[in-house]
Amino acid sequence: MEIQTILDLVKKYNPKSDQDMIQLAFEFARDAHKGQYRLNGDEYMQHALGATYHLAKIKMDDATIIAGLLHDVPDETSVSLDEVRKQFGDEVCSLVEGVSRLGKLKYRGMERYAENLRKMFVSIAHDIRIVILKFADRLHNLETLDILPRDKQLRIAHEVLEIYAPIAHRLGIGYIKERLEDCAFKYMYPDEYRTITELAQPKLERKEQYLGRLKDLLHQIFKENGIAPIGMESRVKHFYSIYRKSIKKNTPDLEGIYDLVAMRVIVESIAECYTVLGVLHQYFKPLQGRFKDYIAQPRQNNYRSLHTTVFSEENEIVEFQIRTTPMDYEAKYGIAAHWNYDESNKSSQRITKNLDWLQEILSIQSSTSYSHEEFLQTLNLDIFQNRIFVFTPKGDVINLPDGSTPVDFAYYIHSDIGRKCSGARINDMLASLNTKLNSGDVVYILTERNRKRPNPDWLSFIKTHMAKSRIKAQLREEHL
Ligand code: MN
Repeated sequence: MEIQTILDLVKKYNPKSDQDMIQLAFEFARDAHKGQYRLNGDEYMQHALGATYHLAKIKMDDATIIAGLLHDVPDETSVSLDEVRKQFGDEVCSLVEGVSRLGKLKYRGMERYAENLRKMFVSIAHDIRIVILKFADRLHNLETLDILPRDKQLRIAHEVLEIYAPIAHRLGIGYIKERLEDCAFKYMYPDEYRTITELAQPKLERKEQYLGRLKDLLHQIFKENGIAPIGMESRVKHFYSIYRKSIKKNTPDLEGIYDLVAMRVIVESIAECYTVLGVLHQYFKPLQGRFKDYIAQPRQNNYRSLHTTVFSEENEIVEFQIRTTPMDYEAKYGIAAHWNYDESNKSSQRITKNLDWLQEILSIQSSTSYSHEEFLQTLNLDIFQNRIFVFTPKGDVINLPDGSTPVDFAYYIHSDIGRKCSGARINDMLASLNTKLNSGDVVYILTERNRKRPNPDWLSFIKTHMAKSRIKAQLREEHL
C-alpha cells in the first residue's frame, strides 16, 4: 500500500483535505517505525497504511486519517506522544492517545472482558472517532492474521465477534462490521467458512449475472413510470451473515435464502422510494410477508430502507432494497457518516448525546455500585439481546443466548467436543448436561474419547441453532 492511494481516495471525497499534512504524518510515522517489521516480514508502516486505508474508505476527516497513520507511534517507537502533539496538535494527539489507551487491558477472563467493553463505551462518549480508529486497526490486524499461532488467532477472532462487530453494528457502520465478521469467521470456524463459501460462491455468481440482465428491464419499467433512479447496484450478502441465516432458517444448502444477492435501488426522495415499491409490485408479484418498511420504522441502529421480495422475470425470486442517498450513506458508514456529509456539525459529543442507549450504558458504567457482572447483564438488554456470558477454564468469554446449556457451550467451542461431551463441571461442581448456564459461570466440558455420536435427546433442551444444526448433521452422518 502506498500513501498516494490514500491521498487520492481522501481527495475524492474531501477536496479541501490538507494533503501536505497527511503526507507529513506519513513521513513522520515511517521514520519513527524505520527498521521495524511485522511478523509476516512487511515493513511496520504497511500496517498503519492498511488501517488508514479503511478509514479513507469510510470517508473519515483529516484528523482521523492522520491519527490512523500515527496510531502506533507512541506505543511501538521511541517517539513520544508529546512530539506527536507538537507536530500535529491537540486533536490528532488526543485521538492517538485514545487508541493507545484502548489497547491496554489489565485483567484476565471476565474482568478483562468487562473492562474492554467499558473502555470502548467511554471512548465512544469521549470521541467516537477513537473507536472507529480501533476498528480500522483491528481490521487490518485480522487481514494479516495468518502468520500468528492458532491460539492467538482464535483469541483475536473471538474478541472481534464478541465485542467489536456488535458495537460496529450498533453504530451502524456496515462497511466495518461486515469485514470484521468475515475475517474473524474464517479463523473462528474454518470448516463452516469453507463450506459456506464453496456453497455460496456459485449461487452468488449466477444471481449477480441474472441481476445484471434484469437491470435493462428495470430501467425501462422505471422510465415508463417517470422514475429516474440515481443508482442501481446488486449487493452481495457477506459470508458470516449467510452462515448465520442458514443456521437460523435451518437450511444448510442455502435454499430458501432469497437475499443472497439483492438489488439496491437508490432514488432522490422518500416519496420516490414508495413509488418504486408500488411500481415493482405492479409488475412483479410480491412474496407474502417479505415486505418491510424500515423507513417508517427504522431498525434500532437507524438503518432505513424499503425491502420487498418479488417473483421477477423467469420466475426468479429477487429482493429489492429501496432507499435515498443519505439512507445509503447511513447504512454503509452509520455514525461515521457524520464526519463527511454533515460537515457543519462535527462535534462528537453532540452526535453521541442523541444516542439514548449509549447514555444509559454510560450512566451505568460510571456508577461504582455496579459489579462487572451487573454491567454485562445490563449491556445484554441493549447490544447483546438476552445473552449470557460464560467462560472457558482459560478465561475466554463465550456469549450465548439466555437458557443455553453445557451442550450449547460444547458445540460453540468445537463440533467434536460437542459430539464427545459426556458431562460438565460448572464452577468446579459436576452438573448435568441440561443445566441452564448463568452469566459468569466457568464451564469445563468432560468428554468421552470413544464416543461417536451425540445423544438425540439433547435436541429437546439445547438452545442455540448452531448446536442444533451440528447435532442433526452428525446424526445424519451416522445413518449413512
Ligand atoms: Mn496498530
